[in-house]
Amino acid sequence: MSKGVLYDATKCIGCRACQVACKQWNEMPGKPTTNTGSYENPPNTNAYSLTKIRFSEVDYDDKFHWVFTKIQCMHCDDPACAAACLVGAFQKTPEGAVVYDDHKCIGCRYCMVACPFGIPAYEWDDPMPWIRKCNFCADRQAEGLLPACVTTCPTGALKFGDREDLIIDAHQRIAAEPGRYVDHVYGESEVGGTSWLYLSPVPFEMLGMPTVGTEAVTLNVERAMGAVAPVLVGVAAVMSGIYWLVKRRQQPEETVAPDDKEQLEVPK
Ligand code: SF4
Ligand code: SF4
Repeated sequence: MSKGVLYDATKCIGCRACQVACKQWNEMPGKPTTNTGSYENPPNTNAYSLTKIRFSEVDYDDKFHWVFTKIQCMHCDDPACAAACLVGAFQKTPEGAVVYDDHKCIGCRYCMVACPFGIPAYEWDDPMPWIRKCNFCADRQAEGLLPACVTTCPTGALKFGDREDLIIDAHQRIAAEPGRYVDHVYGESEVGGTSWLYLSPVPFEMLGMPTVGTEAVTLNVERAMGAVAPVLVGVAAVMSGIYWLVKRRQQPEETVAPDDKEQLEVPK
């Protein structure tokens, strides 16, 4: 059964504990940023911050709303990044995660162009750069653990479960409190459906969530990629081999995961 996460923006208090948990689990360094007059930080997800909380101040329905939105890879059911990748470095797993294999990646960055949510990020300041994005903590899920961000949320704004059950739950919440939510579960149909689902007290476009339609964008990507001459695909394959060999030689030794990584179990 494909898993998902339901993010309820009406429950989020903007503490950003999920950001910290994500960085800790993925062993990503803190980076200096500039104060923009808000507690929101960093400005966007990037190769060292796979998730962030966006702060939005919104006038809607004659009320002022201060709304928080968690941003990360949506784990599309029909991922454009995977359709654009020449060497199959992205894969949608039956469990729901869209995972990235840096051993296959040739660094062409087509995935960055294809993603309708602007998610894949490049390690621009690294001499041997990879693409980085949220992998839905697929490594944790494989060990029966919840995603790190879900585990740490103190208000229950993040709920992990079977995607179909989460959609039912989301519509039940809207029906029970129609004044609390707009009647829209973002991700249920967007780009053909995503594993991450959202509830909000205001229309999603007011939170900066892209209006992407309900058709999988892979159709357009495949059409565009069909225009790429086969010879380029051959060159890409050769580059892939060279890139893989170089990276393999420069790969640092595996580090041992800290003891504090054990967390709650994934519900059956
Ligand atoms: S949100 Fe972007 S990176 Fe994530 S699965 Fe969809 S297309 Fe790929
Ligand atoms: S699922 Fe894992 S990698 Fe993705 S945002 Fe949450 S903690 Fe980060």
